[in-house]
Amino acid sequence: MHIDARTLENETIIEGDICIVGAGAAGISIALEFMNSPYKVILLEGGGFEYEERIQELYDGKTTGQPYYPIKSSELHYFGGTTGHWGGMCALFDPIAFQKRDWVDKSGWPITQETLLPYYERAHVYLEINVYEYNLEYWQKKDPSLVSIPFDKEWVWTKLWQFSKPTRFGTRYKETIVNAKNIHLYTYANMVDITSNENVSEIKTVTVKNYAGKTHRVSARYFVIACAGIQNARVLLAANKQAPKGIGNDNDLVGRYFMEHLELKSAELWVTQKSELKLYMNENPRVHGELAVMPKKQEEYQILNGIISFTALESKTPNYIKTWTNSDPRENLRSHPQPAYKALYHQVKDYFKSFNSDIKNNLHQAFQVTLRMEQAPNPLSRVTLSDEKDELGVPRASLNWSFTSMEKRSIRKNYEIIGQQAGASGFGRLKFLEELWDEKDDHVPSTTSGGWHHMGTTRMSDDPKNGVVDADCKVHGINNLFIAGSSCFTTGGGANPTFTLVALSIRLADHLKDIAIKK
Ligand SMILES: Cc1cc2nc3c(=O)[nH]c(=O)nc-3n(C[C@H](O)[C@H](O)[C@H](O)COP(=O)(O)OP(=O)(O)OC[C@H]3O[C@@H](n4cnc5c(N)ncnc54)[C@H](O)[C@@H]3O)c2cc1C
Repeated sequence: MHIDARTLENETIIEGDICIVGAGAAGISIALEFMNSPYKVILLEGGGFEYEERIQELYDGKTTGQPYYPIKSSELHYFGGTTGHWGGMCALFDPIAFQKRDWVDKSGWPITQETLLPYYERAHVYLEINVYEYNLEYWQKKDPSLVSIPFDKEWVWTKLWQFSKPTRFGTRYKETIVNAKNIHLYTYANMVDITSNENVSEIKTVTVKNYAGKTHRVSARYFVIACAGIQNARVLLAANKQAPKGIGNDNDLVGRYFMEHLELKSAELWVTQKSELKLYMNENPRVHGELAVMPKKQEEYQILNGIISFTALESKTPNYIKTWTNSDPRENLRSHPQPAYKALYHQVKDYFKSFNSDIKNNLHQAFQVTLRMEQAPNPLSRVTLSDEKDELGVPRASLNWSFTSMEKRSIRKNYEIIGQQAGASGFGRLKFLEELWDEKDDHVPSTTSGGWHHMGTTRMSDDPKNGVVDADCKVHGINNLFIAGSSCFTTGGGANPTFTLVALSIRLADHLKDIAIKK
């Protein structure tokens, strides 16, 4: 069922069993899990079904620290959320991503990869990825031309990715959600405040507003906030009437530990024999391999988890941080140089194909190497509230993206290991950016991009002193408030977040069903 909240009488009271705030990958996944259940689900979405500048403007905010994309254009504010722009790259978080690592301060989720495996399988369905199989041998048996780079397996392994279509949740699931009898989707229902009982142990209502000047209240037994990585922190911090530091923020952790994946196109691999690297090149649509340093070596060298990918040097792409600068996300996507470069590369390739057998056979002498790496949890990397308010009266977000000394050292070591392996195996030589050579310099290059992955701002921990939510994504100290999305990640892993956050959301839906039945 769909209701446009602008058309309701002002100050309507909306009642349900479960209230989900935010209809993106996380919120829609949870709503789908509740379809045809005996529970009345209220799904609140701030925007409508299409992009609108006036709604997107509510996301505008400041950035300081390491250069970052404009906040306004790094997440999408309408039904379907940022899946309207995502690229669909999916991989499992490795077991080490969840583990407590002595060399990474504040690492260690209260859950393991094993806990999430059954939910990853279910997430495949929503993300429309065909075969739930991340074992390299399986794919190599099907296609023996997917050959791994012959590096020492004690040092380096090939991690597999698969691709969602990419599923645009806003179009793919619109009809299903709108037609579901027990799901009540309210569009133009921007949550602007959260009201609790007196001692802030239980949420009573959330307040929603829109440009039509309407204010409504929603009461429910359980509330799930699924507004995306930056906004989740923002809405909790802004709800500061009863809890002066913000809801769930008794220990001053909401918004802290903001994490991204650092993306650096910062090396070249020159190979001794021209190679196709079919397994590793983006052009293979179904599965795709990337190189990662083995967990034991990460431990030995005390480094962060990174993944290394290859593209043909001819199709060299500039750094996203230099090109994704418009505050309108659609403009960035339109003018994003990658497709243009790719098209150009293919035109050149097609032209030479007729008489150059190397190009015809996809053989290359040199590859651009990109490292995608987690960052170490850092309390100074954080989302706070700015003094400025948006048009609905909510303080805007301010993001300070910053690093510890581990990142630069880990970037260098990841490259050194791949370079040593390339040399030792006779496969080729790796040359990485001079800016990375100086061991005494902790600064990461200004060309460091992010993946638009916003993690850690409501991090998961058993101990309320170390995180905002518990292993069930419930806010510590509040009986009926849950958070969904990558803001719950304790550490960032090497892989893109959406697959993991959808798996985590399905797990949260199961948990909510369990506790709702018991009550
Ligand atoms: C260009 C680009 C490429 C990407 N590529 C990949 C990729 O290849 N792989 C990958 O894993 N990830 C990728 N991502 C990231 C991916 O899009 C996000 O991880 C994912 O969409 C996050 O899901 P979410 O539900 O937490 O947030 P969102 O999808 O952003 O959904 C949040 C929802 O909450 C709503 N909302 C926000 N505030 C309020 C409020 N106050 N009241 C009511 N509703 C509200 C929003 O309108 C939105 O619908 C990419 C992102 C971008 C921008």
